Amino acid sequence: TTHPSPAADPAAGAAVKAADRAHVFHSWSAQGLIDPLAIAGAEGSYFWDYDGNRYLDFSSQLVNTNIGHQHPKVVAAIQEQAGKLCTLAPGFAVDVRSEAARLIAERTPGDLDKIFFTNGGAEAVENAVRMARLHTGRAKVLSAYRSYHGATAAAINLTGDPRRWPSDTASAGVVHFWGPFLYRSPFHAENEQQECERALAHLEQTIAFEGPQSVAAIILETVPGTAGIMVPPAGYLAGVREICDRYGIVFILDEVMAGFGRTGHWFAADHFGVTPDLLTFAKGVNSGYVPLGGVAISAEIAATFETRPYPGGLTYSGHPLACASAVATIHAMAEERIVENAAEIGEKVIGPGLRAIAERHPSVGEVRGLGVFWALDLVKNKETREPLVPYNASGAANAPMAEFAAACKRGGLWPFVNMNRTHVVPACTITEAEAKEGLTALDEALTAADAHA
Ligand code: PMP
Repeated sequence: TTHPSPAADPAAGAAVKAADRAHVFHSWSAQGLIDPLAIAGAEGSYFWDYDGNRYLDFSSQLVNTNIGHQHPKVVAAIQEQAGKLCTLAPGFAVDVRSEAARLIAERTPGDLDKIFFTNGGAEAVENAVRMARLHTGRAKVLSAYRSYHGATAAAINLTGDPRRWPSDTASAGVVHFWGPFLYRSPFHAENEQQECERALAHLEQTIAFEGPQSVAAIILETVPGTAGIMVPPAGYLAGVREICDRYGIVFILDEVMAGFGRTGHWFAADHFGVTPDLLTFAKGVNSGYVPLGGVAISAEIAATFETRPYPGGLTYSGHPLACASAVATIHAMAEERIVENAAEIGEKVIGPGLRAIAERHPSVGEVRGLGVFWALDLVKNKETREPLVPYNASGAANAPMAEFAAACKRGGLWPFVNMNRTHVVPACTITEAEAKEGLTALDEALTAADAHA
């Protein structure tokens, strides 16, 4: 690529890679068919390998590093906390944990004022589901086909994408339904309002046929992320809220990916004026500098466990290093206007830039998103909207997307690719110049996708 790294050291890179190949068992992978890139360092919107290649990170490491890599205030807070107290069981009160909970509760919508800490997103989903079941005394949970909620037992079962299939029976009582997605409408709708009305009617009918008295919760990503960044039509989430209220169903919004600035608000729910009963978070809460997630809990659900014990816990719940990094992250995001930056860059640079790119490329079917949370839906044909690769394609069938990803990397851009989509999900701290640099590289790489359109 054109961006030299601070210090190229191919021999050190080869040693890192050899040890990785010998002993690290990687997620979601056939171990013998992968070739992980060895990374030497990272800063802000970039990371670099041992061979002198620097990459602009348009993936934010699984849509995680909202504050960028190695933010000095967060690094310092972790170092300072490490010198004071590295670990403490969850049963004690400790300053950084109390402070992190207060700062999060102040930012979550409505009366979501109690925080249960976990080590990541899937554990947050597991506990939200448990809370909903105990609160309602009901068993079933409804989730969307186009969704990802994590890889533990209940979370993978709730997940709609094909990663669910090998673990499909891990957890009982999950029912999938179709959420709104006008570009590939499951309801053959022609406009947003129709899509919204039909999606709500479909959900209500699903509840009627499952038996409302058996449905504990509906879980939705506020803006579904991994499944394609599908901003819901106006009125949809408010409609789901209303249905939940009518049937006494707990409404869970999963903001593991969409929360903490990604959409240009602290929470994506803020765009829609909707307050769920439970809100799951992780990733952006501290950009994963130390593993952290959690559930923000409404006053009503918290009251259920006021005199009755909550039957769940984790050794590392509210880990001091994780909480210290969350406190520093939230302060830095406020002081440096990082959420506002995400909104402005999305509106002024990334959104318009991607729409202009779509005009130039026959392979770009739709541009959708907000903040620093965007997807390009790649197609064989703009008229028919046939996806550039079939659903869940692998190997030769997925070659068009693999060629596109390789072209991005040659151009110094690290892309997020999922099925027939590329997501533009850089750090919320990304500058205008960096965003433009990335869009230029993306524009060039898309000619590799055009060859298959
Ligand atoms: N929910 C959503 C919406 C997610 O995007 C993810 C992770 N991509 C998860 C849950 C699971 O989080 P984790 O990988 O931290 O368990």
